[in-house]
Amino acid sequence: MICPKCQRQLLEKAGELSCPFCRRPFSRNPFGYLDFTLEAQLRETKSTSEEYAAEQISSTRRFYQEYLKPWVDREKTERILDVGCGLGMGVAFLCRDGYEAYGIDLPHLAGFWARENRDPRHFINGDGSHTPFPDGYFDAVVTLGTIEHIGTISGHNTLAAGYRAVRNSFAAELLRVTKPGGRILISCPNKSFPVDIHHQPTDENSTEKAENRRQAIFDRTGLNLHLPFGRYHLLSFREIKKTFCRDNGAQAIRSLSARSYFAYKRTGSLKMLKQFKSLISLYMEHLPGPLRSTFLNPFLIVEVRR
Ligand SMILES: [Zn+2]
Repeated sequence: MICPKCQRQLLEKAGELSCPFCRRPFSRNPFGYLDFTLEAQLRETKSTSEEYAAEQISSTRRFYQEYLKPWVDREKTERILDVGCGLGMGVAFLCRDGYEAYGIDLPHLAGFWARENRDPRHFINGDGSHTPFPDGYFDAVVTLGTIEHIGTISGHNTLAAGYRAVRNSFAAELLRVTKPGGRILISCPNKSFPVDIHHQPTDENSTEKAENRRQAIFDRTGLNLHLPFGRYHLLSFREIKKTFCRDNGAQAIRSLSARSYFAYKRTGSLKMLKQFKSLISLYMEHLPGPLRSTFLNPFLIVEVRR
């Protein structure tokens, strides 16, 4: 492993890792997982609630069988990294099936991992923008429902001042650890579509009046309406393309079909009507290819080629 800050090979001495250059030590947290988090603020970020944890565990088995594994197997793939792996079901299934898979997520996930008996050799705490893996280490990287929370104040909706730069270094890091020609799978509700089917309209850092209005609509209808442009934490296809291709040199990007993705994944802890949810799923699964990168697609699943 390398130093997530200066990218020098880490030294191991008496079970402790440290960087020979910046002298930073990297130790295991009380749950036994190595912690590479550089920013103290991320140590306090709580992105997963008990409720969300339970949803992930119940929905991921079919998602893995019917979407993730087939995607992984589309090309010869041995090493995979899941950035923002959450409870780590995907990584655990991949390891079971013989892949060399690793999951990285913020420090507060460690307690959940310990409860699920996640292997400390395959799960590490840290920040997706600064991982301890060497250049080109992975055949594939996946980051699902994560990128929209990069650069937010508390891991939810509210964007921090320099969020664009943070997202840029996130993209650069994913590309760095992917081998040349390797793939990155990214999913995110589409900013260009005016209903966010994954998130609540506000978080504890939202203060603006407009957002209170959006909360009121949400309380009444279960719909999180937002402007399809401007300052909102979601990304559009164009924004993902700009971040990965134009700014960070990825070769190509394409929008994939949501078939078998959406039906089993959580649609957020939203109160949206069941019928409406299944209607959206049906609509998305049958959206013609050329429309998948437009405002007609509620949920982006994109494949970036390094
Ligand atoms: Zn260092």
